[in-house]
Amino acid sequence: MGQTLASLTGELGVLGHKPYRARQVLDWVYEKRVADFASMTDLPSALRGQLAERFPAEKLEQVRMSGSGDTTRKFLFRLPDGQFIESVLIPASPALYGETSDRRTLCVSTQVGCAYGCKFCASGLRGWKRNLAPGEITAQVFHVEKAAGERVDNIVFMGMGEPLANYANLATAIEILNAPWGFEIGARHITVSTSGLAPQIRKLAEHPVPVRLAISLHGATDEVRGQIMPVNKKYPLAELFDACAHFTSRRKQKLGFEYILIAGVNDAPEQARLLAMHARRLNAKVNLIPYNTVEGLSWERPSTARQQEFVRAVRAGGVVATIRREKGHDIDAACGQLRLRVEDELAAAGVVA
Ligand code: SAH
Ligand code: SF4
Repeated sequence: MGQTLASLTGELGVLGHKPYRARQVLDWVYEKRVADFASMTDLPSALRGQLAERFPAEKLEQVRMSGSGDTTRKFLFRLPDGQFIESVLIPASPALYGETSDRRTLCVSTQVGCAYGCKFCASGLRGWKRNLAPGEITAQVFHVEKAAGERVDNIVFMGMGEPLANYANLATAIEILNAPWGFEIGARHITVSTSGLAPQIRKLAEHPVPVRLAISLHGATDEVRGQIMPVNKKYPLAELFDACAHFTSRRKQKLGFEYILIAGVNDAPEQARLLAMHARRLNAKVNLIPYNTVEGLSWERPSTARQQEFVRAVRAGGVVATIRREKGHDIDAACGQLRLRVEDELAAAGVVA
């Protein structure tokens, strides 16, 4: 599930198979969503045997699913090495940035844990464990579709991990998700969210698939942002915005600024004014997210009145701004939370995760 047309053609060529066989295999896996080689009836049985031997299916064992029907559903998977990752399926509904949508969105993870240690985030709490392989990223789509019985047609890289810190595997996963021989999800329906790795933003601008980019801003000055996002020391706002300007010069789609509202930290009117100024300059839309409390962290969301005041102030600056509607607050929907809880339960039961 991590193969591209080029890589599989190469692999099968070494085994003496014609190039069209690769397309046939990918047609089964990505188009028909059939991962079991034995069911690929139009392939010679010798080839099916070789495939099964060389390409064992990505093992994502679903250990939990919370939520159901038309609510947000959260999936917890165990990887063969015992690590946990999460994916969140968001049903057809008002989409990000206020565009209503009948699309089913899947929020996928790109790493186990995260090295960036944002002070408010559950994913970073226990540090970084490892990168996910391209096949482990695309397998989340595959497995969630099977479990939910419906196709996913919008992907956001907003699960666990920093996608741009796993750039090569992310780039391959994007190719597979978008390609006509792959999952065929349109570039405009794939969004990468980053805490602001400036050099990799420039790299992403050169990726052949013009995906959307969301920047986790969470502070409109270095002072405020630096308090909650250590990455701001490495790539301060001026450098981040330069990379953003480069990205938008190469792409038609608007940038998105994600801005979590945390009471008493980044919700002052002056931050709203400066946020609007930056967004206007970079022609970005703003998505405000009332903070989801994380067990063990003391941050809180501001009152509804204060949230409204903030969004009004951003809009007054001439910028499109939305407040994300509540989704899955009760099922640990903020990235990384479910994994921590399950790891704790296992530890309490004497099982080492
Ligand atoms: N590492 C990437 C993508 C994963 S995080 C990034 O930081 O952008 C996806 C989004 O969830 C980010 O905007 C992140 O700031 C936000 N987030 C993390 N913890 C949250 C919480 N407790 N409540 C609300 N949003 C949260
Ligand atoms: Fe990592 Fe993103 Fe969480 Fe920051 S917000 S710790 S970059 S996952």
